[in-house]
This record gives sequence, structure tokens and C-alpha cells, in this order.
Amino acid sequence: MNGPNVMHSSGSIDISPLAMVGAGTLTIDLAAVRSNYRGLCQAAAGAAVAGVVKADAYGLGAARIAQVLYQEGCRTFFVAQLMEALSLRDGLPGDAELFVLNGVQPELEAECAERRITPVLNSRPQFAAWRALAHRLGRRLPAALQADTGMSRLGLPPEELEAIAADATAFEGLDFTLFMSHLACADEPDNAANAMQLANFRALSALLPAARRSLANSAGIMLGPDFRFDLVRPGIALYGGAPIPGRPNPMKPVATVEAPVAQIRTVPPGAGIGYGFSRHATGRMRLATIPVGYADGWHRASSNRGSAWFEGHALPFAGRVSMDSIILDATAVPALAPGDRVELVGPHRTLDAVAADAGTISYEILTSLGMRFTRVYRDETGKGAVA
Ligand SMILES: *Cc1c(COP(=O)(O)O)cnc(C)c1O
Repeated sequence: MNGPNVMHSSGSIDISPLAMVGAGTLTIDLAAVRSNYRGLCQAAAGAAVAGVVKADAYGLGAARIAQVLYQEGCRTFFVAQLMEALSLRDGLPGDAELFVLNGVQPELEAECAERRITPVLNSRPQFAAWRALAHRLGRRLPAALQADTGMSRLGLPPEELEAIAADATAFEGLDFTLFMSHLACADEPDNAANAMQLANFRALSALLPAARRSLANSAGIMLGPDFRFDLVRPGIALYGGAPIPGRPNPMKPVATVEAPVAQIRTVPPGAGIGYGFSRHATGRMRLATIPVGYADGWHRASSNRGSAWFEGHALPFAGRVSMDSIILDATAVPALAPGDRVELVGPHRTLDAVAADAGTISYEILTSLGMRFTRVYRDETGKGAVA
């Protein structure tokens, strides 16, 4: 789902003038994804580590990321929607399992089976339809069940699972390959909901035939060995977001965003700055405008709060974030000139800090990154070539 403006690079990057025609560059460090995957394998201490590559791998390019994860040994992938699974299937080797978290719409079961995509079955009708398909096809199909252990979002409620458990023929024609649930409060390690969901998950899985079990997302992995079971499902941690916001982030940053300065001006005291004059110049101010706005994923909520960076100096956002531009206060950075590239996400401004500026979470920043960035993939330490 990458746009036409994708460049590939290994080693040092030459930014072509093309990179200047859009909002700037989004550099995706595939070596960091590899390193994060290996780190999560260590943290998971024996549990298999799946890759959650839904929403185009949180906006970073699912086709590329899934390949890199596969090369690191990942064999299980989760997406949210069938559409995403269909676009990934052919690019992944046959031994890669592909699960659709949102389940399957009626009438699309056959398409799943044919393309070797496993829907996570979230309701009794979904389970019954999948089993009926296995009977019709005369071959065993893999079955993945999600339990609602307390989040009230997706999955079979306890009474439906109990009914399935009570039916000795329930899994006839199916290979029960995965029993999973999802934690609502894993990013709050002290929240009592975690232990409650864990207990529910254990109790429900005890009713059912043996299958691989999976409960933990990125934050869940950090909750300790009890939460890891056979398979863990990290997403954000692979992409460099802090598994538990507010705690030290052990993951390597993956995304870097830079933008060129389009124009610089000096304004007198009292000058209105940006839409609605939400700011006025306090003294003589030097302002730099960059071609990145809320259409590119810089939330309007970060107006007057966010910052860009240049050579170790902060350039605070001045005034409102517009659709296609942001005005930066460069008064304290006289060296900044038109064409200079400022950092929006990088060593000085982490993904989690950008999220905090906008009052949101790193997930929403990544998945909001717009199509007007030129995407550059680096893979310096990777084994083998990535197509
Ligand atoms: C998105 C998602 C994940 C991955 O969550 P992270 O917090 O990004 O690690 C895992 N499991 C389910 C069911 C999800 O929806």
C-alpha cells in the first residue's frame, strides 16, 4: 500500500530532489524492526513471537515489514481485516500463518480457506459457518477462537464458549490451532483488570481442547511470564513505540520523519501567527514554515505544543497546525535556513513524545502518517536482500 513515492536504500541515503516535492521523508529502519523482533523473542522467553502487521504495519508498510519479520523467523502474522490478509498472502511463503483478527464476514469463508487465511472466529455463527465450510470442502480447516475475557470488544463470551465446550463434536473437521484473547489494560501494569482477564482466559481455555494459547500484545509481554502462554502478539513494540508508555522504552526507534523548511520570515512584535491568530509574536520573531500539516498526520491538537528539531535545538510549533503546513519558532536558531531539513520524529523527538504533544498514543501517530511523505527503507544490518 505504499504510494508511488517509495525509495529503497541500503546504507547511506541519497535523498533525491523528489523527496522535496512532498511533505518530507519518512525513513523506516528495517534493521531496527529486526532488532526489536529479536529483543521481543528474548523477552518472550520461549513463547513464539507473532508479528501484528495490521493497518499496513501501523503505517510503515506491511509487505516490507512482514518479509523482514519472516527472515527473522516469524511464522505467524495478524492483520485486522481480510483485505489486508489478501494483499499480504502471496508475498509470504506458504509456511507463514495469517490470521484475521476481526473474523470473517458471512459468504467470505471460502475465500479465506482458498487463500490459506485463518479468520479468528469471534462468535458462534462464525464458528458454525467455518465448520460447515470444512464439512463442505471435505478437508480440515484451522480454527482460531477468540474469547472475550472482559474487554467487551470482540470474541466469544464465556457462555458461548461453554456451549461449544459442551458439544463433543464441536471441533469435528477442524484443527483447533489457536485460542486467544486480548487485554484491555495491559499498558497499566498495576491495573487489576489484567489479573482478572488472565484468570478468565485460563478458566475458559481449561474447558476447551488443547490449542496454542495467546493473550499478550506488546505491553502484555512485559506483564510477566504468566501472560505469555505459547504465542505473543506484539505490534507497537516492533515499530519502536514504548510497550508501556511512561516507562523507559527498550525498543529501537524505527520511524524517522524529516521535513524541509519551505520559507523563513521575521515578524514584528504583535504579529498574528497562523489560523485564528492563536498566537501573537511576543517580540521580533523568526518563523520557519514546513510543508507538513494535519493531512500528513501532525494532529491539530499539537498546535502550539509540538516541536521540530534542528541540530539539537528545539523549534516549537507557533500557532495552529494547518492542513499542509506548520509554523515553527526559529527565533533562537538563527542558523536555520530555507531548505534545511528539520526533525519531526527522531533522536530528539520520540514517537511517544509526538503522541503526547497531540494528547494521543504512538499508535495513532504512526497510523496517521500521510501519503505525502517520501518513504525510504533502510536495512543496513539485515541478512540477505529484501525485495
Ligand atoms: C492490535 C492488536 C495487537 C497488537 O497490539 P500492540 O499493543 O500494538 O502490541 C495484538 N492483539 C490484538 C487482538 C490486537 O488487536
